[in-house]
Amino acid sequence: MSNQHWMQRDLDVLWHPCTQMKDHERLPLIPIRRGEGVWLEDFEGKRYLDAVSSWWVNVFGHANARIGERIKEQVDQLEHVMLAGFSHQPVVELSERLVQITPPGLSRVFFADNGSSGIEVALKMSFHYWLNSGQPAKKRFVTLTNSYHGETVAAMSVGDVALFTDTYKALLLDTLKVQSPDCYLRPEGVSWEEHSRTMFAAMEQTLAEHHHEVAAVIVEPLIQGAGGMRMYHPVYLKLLREACDRYGVHLIHDEIAVGFGRTGTMFACEQAGITPDFLVLSKALTGGYLPMAAVLTTDEVYAAFYDEYATLRAFLHSHTYTGNPLACAAALATLDIFEQDGVIEANKRLAARMASATAHLVDHPHVAEVRQTGMALAIEMVQDKAGKVAYPWQERRGLKVYEHALTRGALLRPLGSVVYFLPPYVISEEQIDFLAEVASEGIDLATRTSVSVAVGDNRYPGFRDPG
Ligand SMILES: *Cc1c(COP(=O)(O)O)cnc(C)c1O
Repeated sequence: MSNQHWMQRDLDVLWHPCTQMKDHERLPLIPIRRGEGVWLEDFEGKRYLDAVSSWWVNVFGHANARIGERIKEQVDQLEHVMLAGFSHQPVVELSERLVQITPPGLSRVFFADNGSSGIEVALKMSFHYWLNSGQPAKKRFVTLTNSYHGETVAAMSVGDVALFTDTYKALLLDTLKVQSPDCYLRPEGVSWEEHSRTMFAAMEQTLAEHHHEVAAVIVEPLIQGAGGMRMYHPVYLKLLREACDRYGVHLIHDEIAVGFGRTGTMFACEQAGITPDFLVLSKALTGGYLPMAAVLTTDEVYAAFYDEYATLRAFLHSHTYTGNPLACAAALATLDIFEQDGVIEANKRLAARMASATAHLVDHPHVAEVRQTGMALAIEMVQDKAGKVAYPWQERRGLKVYEHALTRGALLRPLGSVVYFLPPYVISEEQIDFLAEVASEGIDLATRTSVSVAVGDNRYPGFRDPG
């Protein structure tokens, strides 16, 4: 059975995520038959190095035996049980371990079954906490420009991906938007730390003016992922924690993408030495095996809901697959690997290789920046280097890099004009060099021609393919 066969059957019945389906009249869909380590293999035996960890979830490779075995054991024991009124060993053990490895003060774990749902849980819990505490006016959320927190309606409301916020505007919550500390936009000669500090003034001002009506501030710590892997300094998170305490506002850390070692520490908040009021985890939580999210919070939040039933203070929120035992088993195996293999330490060498292998791109005439935080590295392609003028989004330059990478055997799917590596941690140094080579070639090809689109359509000036 060939790729063509599966592609045709697929296109007859499926509607793919994040895709203009008409693109597939031209772009081949790639059916994958099997995976092994960093490799994905199609039905004709062609292999692709998974440089983006299959949408940022896979940390220890495909068909990882240690995770697979744990799931197989669990599937013979107990595949699922509802978590209301019932419990099971994997969910207890996983909750204990998450409390242990996250910053002090996070003592309660609430499960959801995907990242967006985890965000909904955190938003609702924060709002409900203030309601239970006699402060019903605190019902708005503060978010950063260029942020992304998922695609359900409330999660979309606290995000800032132009296309979504515009298209679905009529459905969204009324949030307060503050300029992001995004260090790509810092003035020349200014350090990440200085820029992040300066940008905090806008947050301080918003909180000073609105804290009486604000439930929480939500951020993607250190890396704004879907917004183009834009990065900032941990000092911003430290200042934000202090301000949230001063103004009586919750701090929600969306570490769905950055948790589990991506930024160089197990969790991004460690780099700021702070504890958020809500920590939302998903994606790599199960090693990329099964959908699951965990929302960690404090005793103080938990206590505001703990009362006689008739007071109606309980958090009556549920997702059907909450705490699924198979997903818990995958997560426990994933945590074992982190612990037993000294992964965070070993990643330092890989991160250094990612930097050295791409260092030459800084001099490329159409690369404005090569930036990195831990195991995430991004290359920003631009039309004009000196002025950091972006390519018109309609030209889809990143797509050209993607198509080139496929011919070379790499899954390198850019975000608009941002080419990035977010590889599984089982990648080798030689494989990193290969990715850098493929990316360089792709960027050369994609930037060879000058701008051809009449830039009349400014409806979405900051629009990027969401990934
Ligand atoms: C992926 C992502 C989400 C949404 O998670 P889903 O499982 O896709 O719903 C939310 N926030 C961040 C930062 C993400 O990267």
